[in-house]
Amino acid sequence: MSESKDFLRVIVEEDLKKGKYKEIVTRFPPEPNGFPHIGHAKSICINFGIARDYNGHCNLRMDDTNPTTEDTKYVEALKDAVQWLGFKWDKDIYYTSDYFPKIYEYAIKLIKMGKAYVDSINEEQMREFRGTVTEPGKRSEFANRSIEENLDLFERMKKGEFKDGEHVLRAKIDMSAANMKMRDPLLYRIRHAHHFRTENEWCIYPMYDFAHCLSDYIEGISHSICTLEFENNRDIYDWVLDTLELEPPRPYQHEFARLGINYTVMSKRKLLELVQGNYVNGWDDPRMPTIAGYKRRGYTPESILNFCDQIGIAKANSMVDVSQLEFCIRDDLNKKVPRVMCVLDPLKVTIENYEGEEEIDAPYYPHDVPKEGSRVVPFSKVVYIERDDFNENPPKGFYRLTPEQPVRLRHGYIISCKEVIKDETGKITELIAQYYPNSKSGSDTSDIKVKSAIQWVSEKHAKKIEVRLYDRLYKNEAPEGLEDLNPNSLSIIKDALIEPAVISDKVDERFQFERQGYFYADPIDYTDENPVFNKIVGLKDSWAKKNIVERTHSSTVEVNYSVESAHHSISTKVKKEIVHGEAQALTQEQQNLFDKYTKEYRLNSEVSNILVRDEQLTSFYEETLKELNSPVSIANIVANEVAKELKQENELKFTSKQIAQLVKMVDEELISSKIAKQVFEEMTQTGENPEQIVEAKGLIQISDPAVILPIIDEVIAKNPDNVEKYRAGNQKLFGFFVGQVLKATEGKANPKVVNELVTKQLKA
Ligand code: ATP
Ligand code: MG
Repeated sequence: MSESKDFLRVIVEEDLKKGKYKEIVTRFPPEPNGFPHIGHAKSICINFGIARDYNGHCNLRMDDTNPTTEDTKYVEALKDAVQWLGFKWDKDIYYTSDYFPKIYEYAIKLIKMGKAYVDSINEEQMREFRGTVTEPGKRSEFANRSIEENLDLFERMKKGEFKDGEHVLRAKIDMSAANMKMRDPLLYRIRHAHHFRTENEWCIYPMYDFAHCLSDYIEGISHSICTLEFENNRDIYDWVLDTLELEPPRPYQHEFARLGINYTVMSKRKLLELVQGNYVNGWDDPRMPTIAGYKRRGYTPESILNFCDQIGIAKANSMVDVSQLEFCIRDDLNKKVPRVMCVLDPLKVTIENYEGEEEIDAPYYPHDVPKEGSRVVPFSKVVYIERDDFNENPPKGFYRLTPEQPVRLRHGYIISCKEVIKDETGKITELIAQYYPNSKSGSDTSDIKVKSAIQWVSEKHAKKIEVRLYDRLYKNEAPEGLEDLNPNSLSIIKDALIEPAVISDKVDERFQFERQGYFYADPIDYTDENPVFNKIVGLKDSWAKKNIVERTHSSTVEVNYSVESAHHSISTKVKKEIVHGEAQALTQEQQNLFDKYTKEYRLNSEVSNILVRDEQLTSFYEETLKELNSPVSIANIVANEVAKELKQENELKFTSKQIAQLVKMVDEELISSKIAKQVFEEMTQTGENPEQIVEAKGLIQISDPAVILPIIDEVIAKNPDNVEKYRAGNQKLFGFFVGQVLKATEGKANPKVVNELVTKQLKA
């Protein structure tokens, strides 16, 4: 249990103290009309967790009052999910349908008390009579039926004498209640349908509002915990139990905020649509936010429990970042799983000066002391490396193999490239390489400097595997429907190559493929002949670079040093991290900082992650913060630009004080973010103060409309064709005009002011 108690546990403890209940009894009451999703996991953790923490028990109850949508296969999926998460329910599972006879008796009792009546108006009238939030409703004439008539009609409803919708049973409460739910809510409806358990025994079914509170009472539940959308139903819950004058103790309802995650839909109805329309391969498709999906993908129960613990329990709905869930699984696996080498897109490398074969002993857990174990990695003349790890025309900062730059084969030798062989289309088909006999990892006596180590497999020994790469199912942060599906959420690689020990040793089902991510042997499709691995999650949040660019754009202070630069710095960072195949768990200290950065400073998790993992960056960030209280802007520049510098240089030419000055100038709109980038570059070279640089170069941002306007007018005058096209509706040309003006001022014009003025002038 986390140290600080959530509000539900506070309530439970008070009730225990007051002696209100002898035992804490909760329940998890899903409707078996779909597979449970990660939102249900939250509810499971709360209900089972509270029962466990207070030595009570939790019932698993199928809320099966809607015969048309429910099915046994969903019951099985729910049982499986609860068990997989590590919880046990009390005795057998419960079904609301088991209480149908009792609930029926309670309905009769209400009728006899004059508190319920059979209504026979149609749906439209019912809606009309309900009134509105501002106007009271009115009661139907049938509310005046005598108790005898009601009893007779209700019994005949049960016997099947009427069609669906012909009559309903309603509570007689108050048609002018401020809470609209209390305006004579429905208790029973007629449904001539086959029920998966009671079959054709019943043709009337109790409504949620009637069945739920009574089921809770019948089972002796003490705390009936549900999501916020049932807040207004609480009055009915209380009314039913109080009106029936049931013997105490009775349960009380408490609401918490439901879980929402960005890039995810969380409604069984929408998930069912994906399954039925074959947009995914079933409820357990590894892209689905169902428990079965996470399980099949390779998530561990621990990672999901951890996630539920981290998000906490609150009374206000909020959206959780999906990267937080991804962080939890990464964090869990990082400590546990063996690290091996797999090549997804193989490029052949023939080592011309190597003959024979050798066996290299390589640890499975190179970074974790408590876990031990190693395997043999065979090495021979022909190996495969990742196609991306060679570059004939490397960009600046490319640390892997090039015609000029040697690289280390992880756990093995250093090689250099002698010759590049291509086919007629120009595609590289093979590299001829040389190895350095005295450079073997662990006993390297060569003087050869390399900037990274890459994964590889021996051609003769490697095993072919199928790899299924999964990406987010939705491309939008707040997906609505099918149109928001990410078309690239699944890609299948049929002929990836893996080192043989993975297939033969079977030390685990989950692996870190070094520099690639975490993978899981698919529990259904994997065979020794055709091994299939699912990508669980990457080593790093691959969506974060997108987010950083987006966030920098939208933060109050724009430190958006152009899209390329943000992108570039991230890829450098990723490179450094993966050279060592590291994505270690945060230490307690780092974790505390991480929490502070994300919660207090409101940094996004990726930026925080970068900052806390590197001591130098952390202290640089903290130092800078002391100079200027602008945590988000400073974090962005430190995690991007400063981090990049630190990785390339041993010593920084600039100080935290200078960075604070730079951010401050952007904050105060003295310089544009674009110019800030230029100034930063200069600082890295000369170490001069940003103010000095700005002054010497005359880079002060121009925000004065009197200066900018004539420039805009000139641009407009020079481009009559584009003006015409723009005014005829080609909105894309807006960027052209802004660009021209910025160019004319050498980037010194304040983009915000330019935007406003261009809009105005083009309208004229
Ligand atoms: P959906 O809208 O996805 O169909 P539901 O609320 O209809 O969900 P039920 O099977 O009725 O699903 O819910 C079982 C329990 O799980 C309920 O107590 C419900 O409040 C809880 N629950 C459902 N979705 C979430 C969520 N996103 N976050 C937390 N709890 C949830
Ligand atoms: Mg529901």
